[in-house]
Amino acid sequence: MIVLKTNRELALMRDACRISAEALQVVGEAVKPGVTTYELDRLAYEYITKNKARPNFLNLYGFPATACISINNQVIHGIPSKTAVLKDGDIVSVDLGAELNGYNGDNAATFAVGEISPEAKRLCDTTRESLYKGIEAAVVGGRVGDIGAAVSEYCEARGFSVVRKYVGHGIGAELHEEPSVPNFGTRGRGVRLLPGMTLAIEPMINQGKADVRTLSDGWTVITADGKLSAHFEHTVAITTNGPQILTQV
Ligand code: MG
Repeated sequence: MIVLKTNRELALMRDACRISAEALQVVGEAVKPGVTTYELDRLAYEYITKNKARPNFLNLYGFPATACISINNQVIHGIPSKTAVLKDGDIVSVDLGAELNGYNGDNAATFAVGEISPEAKRLCDTTRESLYKGIEAAVVGGRVGDIGAAVSEYCEARGFSVVRKYVGHGIGAELHEEPSVPNFGTRGRGVRLLPGMTLAIEPMINQGKADVRTLSDGWTVITADGKLSAHFEHTVAITTNGPQILTQV
């Protein structure tokens, strides 16, 4: 079932999403060589709880941390660790969210650690830009397939691959709601976009092939070919005034 949100609910979501975005910003500002992903996770936890919100990834399906933190060839769902130390030239994807007053926010970004290669920068820039292409397509009367087509066309034209195994999602009172929001698709196909829908749009884009696999920790998803991956995400409301990004600081 797809839940359409009232204006009152959208206002509540905006609060949860703002805290999610601020927490992501706090983490992003702390990214530098020598920092562990455990330390970044603690910053996110402290920021969210200090603001009377709840880290909504923590314990969800058994995930043991506030943020999913994924380095280089790790695509998503990396578990923060005291032994995962960021080094100059890495890229690090941070995905986190907060729940406040019964509503959820969810957002992600890939950050550069120190000086990164031009290829890594192009991957990150393309993935970020593809998120905005997807958001632009999230308009009343459109279809979910319009979003995925916008993301995949942009990335594939630049030689990158779209991860197909994992997709974006509806979001609201639950972190994961219907519909699924793939980062690929066909224009004019899929669920019709209606005012009050709230979607987490989240392209996961690979430098090499699209295939991924999961490590034996049961969580960390990596590229099958060992190449880099980037991930950007916003929680977006579909309104009669166009798409509104809720995860803004
Ligand atoms: Mg998400």
